[in-house]
Amino acid sequence: MTQVDLLDLDASLTEDERQVRAVVRQVVDDLVRPHVAGWYEAGQVPARELAREFGKLGLLGMHLTGYGCAGSTAVAYGLACLELEAGDSGVRSLVSVQGSLAMYAIWRYGSEEQKQRWLPAMAVGEAIGSFGLTEPDHGSDPASMATRARRDGDDWVLNGSKMWITNAPIADVAVIWARTDSGVRGFAVPMETPGVTAREIGRKMSLRASLTGEISLDDVRLPADAQLPDAIGLKAPLSCLTEARHGIVWGALGAARDCLETALTYATTRTQFGRPLAGFQLTQAKLADMAVEWNKGYLLALQLGRLADAGKLRPEQVSVGKLNNVREALAIARQCRTILGANGVSGDYPVMRHANNLESVLTYEGTSEIHQLVVGQRLTGVSAFT
Ligand code: FAD
Repeated sequence: MTQVDLLDLDASLTEDERQVRAVVRQVVDDLVRPHVAGWYEAGQVPARELAREFGKLGLLGMHLTGYGCAGSTAVAYGLACLELEAGDSGVRSLVSVQGSLAMYAIWRYGSEEQKQRWLPAMAVGEAIGSFGLTEPDHGSDPASMATRARRDGDDWVLNGSKMWITNAPIADVAVIWARTDSGVRGFAVPMETPGVTAREIGRKMSLRASLTGEISLDDVRLPADAQLPDAIGLKAPLSCLTEARHGIVWGALGAARDCLETALTYATTRTQFGRPLAGFQLTQAKLADMAVEWNKGYLLALQLGRLADAGKLRPEQVSVGKLNNVREALAIARQCRTILGANGVSGDYPVMRHANNLESVLTYEGTSEIHQLVVGQRLTGVSAFT
């Protein structure tokens, strides 16, 4: 039972979904919560060790089937994301990029040989994946990407640069999207290939417990079978993003729940003017409004998850969820910060860390503005992107 579940939405979960949630909540309590403030402050995270632990529990690529993947429902995967992000958005990002971006791309578009080579090792966390779409000069508009893949005999030769790539500094394989003479194609690029370098991006003020890097591709020669055979055009990477965004719709609720629970505890224990903060009407109004928004977000996530499980989820519906739930989670985190007063800015409490993390979550996997344009296009039939 979640303290902030005013609508008894938990009751609509199946026994299996509840079980997944309980397991992930426990692993976050054991492996993440005790250490995450320190990781965040240091800008370091033992990502490989975490990946192996998450792999043991079947959390990596958990909604995929075969190749050592757990084959869970979309709702169960969403609940796992929620619990992971209640620990930290960076930890959830590790799992999302591994499972929904890198593994999903290979699982959906790769050859049987590519799947056999990478997916079982990635499912147990022995191999780490990243997903390179964004470039230094091309973010929201990936159709303009500059990274090129050209044929040289049977080989491919890649040149370009991918920026802001989660997991890149420790990745074993990167799914790289590049322009070819016949449109955008995807490649499973082993990171040890000559010409591939990964530079860690430092000085992040957000997602500090997540490793982010720039991948440079300098005359990277790949055999023909490195290309993902079924990934034809930009719709392939965009479909991977739809997968990952569904996890974010849920994940953001985790960060918000952790902030809300922290604020509730604080408001009932901290006394000013001779009464707990929770006794002031202004504080109760804040708490009530936040809990209402959180419950609306949970309803939205459940609806999208059930649509996904029925095979009916459309990309613009995921945009509705990502737009709303990340925006509201960030508003909740900032509001909770005010309830904690000065302690709200301290790393001894998780609230400001979540708020800072959510700034990245607002931007990656399509910015809020881009999701507004997707929803606007669906409503009006008019594209306002350019
Ligand atoms: P821009 O595209 O330059 O946008 C800047 C601003 O302009 C935004 O507010 C945007 O909404 C607005 N804007 C742009 N176009 C329009 C328009 N047509 N109409 C209205 N407003 C517009 N990428 C990956 O490929 N793989 C990863 O693993 C990955 N991990 C990331 C991790 C972190 C911590 C961060 C911060 C980013 C990550 N990204 C990753 C990159 C992320 O997806 C991009 O930052 C995002 O797509 C936005 O691109 P941009 O930063 O270049 O911003």
